[in-house]
Amino acid sequence: MATESARTQAKIDLHTHTNASDGLDTPAELVTNASQRGISVLGVTDHDTMDGLDAASEAAARAGITLVPGVELSTTVDRAEVHILGYFVDSNDSDLQARLSDLAAARVRRVERMIARLHELGYPVDGEAILAQAEEGSIGRPHVARALMEIGAVDSVNDAFERFLKAGRPAYIPRDSFSPEDAVGLLVEYSVIPVLAHPFSTKDIEGTLARLVPAGLKGLETYYAEYSPEQHAQLHVIADGWGLVPTGGSDYHGAGFREGRELGAAPVPQHSWERLSTLYADLANGV
Ligand code: AMP
Ligand code: FE
Ligand code: FE
Ligand code: ZN
Repeated sequence: MATESARTQAKIDLHTHTNASDGLDTPAELVTNASQRGISVLGVTDHDTMDGLDAASEAAARAGITLVPGVELSTTVDRAEVHILGYFVDSNDSDLQARLSDLAAARVRRVERMIARLHELGYPVDGEAILAQAEEGSIGRPHVARALMEIGAVDSVNDAFERFLKAGRPAYIPRDSFSPEDAVGLLVEYSVIPVLAHPFSTKDIEGTLARLVPAGLKGLETYYAEYSPEQHAQLHVIADGWGLVPTGGSDYHGAGFREGRELGAAPVPQHSWERLSTLYADLANGV
């Protein structure tokens, strides 16, 4: 029965997370959920780790889904979040694995400082339980947010960010210095396609592109699920102006993790995926 209608409704989602970083689904669960939602092309983009990719690609092969192996690197510029997605990573590349391990280690140090700060403030989150989750994959603020929920200090992950964890709040710890140019440069070095994630988070899209296109940025996340149709149109014009591929995705982190980020919720057109995959083919052929 999954014939013509399923094909015409086939969905693309190029931005998702698993429990290898701060998502809730295992890689296999993510693929099962994607398959149930009629997704045919799935990008898995965990923060600073490729640890979920082998399991995801095995599950995707069984489900008949095209898996786009990715990562997401986080940087901060003047307190604005500048995140860089990288598409078509080679999860077996041990040099790249080592580079990402350094970033994941910096995440652990940052989370350790957040835990210490929360303890000072009188919130006894279970630091060992948080840090144990770094043994496979990478950790971040959502893990701290869940620990705050567990001790009843907050009602939700969002509440934890609003009261404690976002920039300017008492348990906010800045990241180690790692510029967006560094992130783009790292990806370029490993023949990975760099794309600016959720561009409005940068607070200055044109200024960010003026820095990052010369560094090798190739795409702009245009069809981001939380953005409005007007914003999608605006980003498409900007992508065209800079000659960038307009990608898109939901930034799914698990059911109910955050409103507007449900799996498959981004209206990513077929041409978006075609352009990204053509770019990859050209890169592989040395064009
Ligand atoms: P970190 O990578 O440790 O800086 O944490 C940032 C992560 O937290 C990103 O993956 C976001 O998806 C997530 N995040 C940021 N703000 C919120 C929020 N208000 N509610 C839920 N998740 C959030
Ligand atoms: Fe995240
Ligand atoms: Fe992000
Ligand atoms: Zn993300």
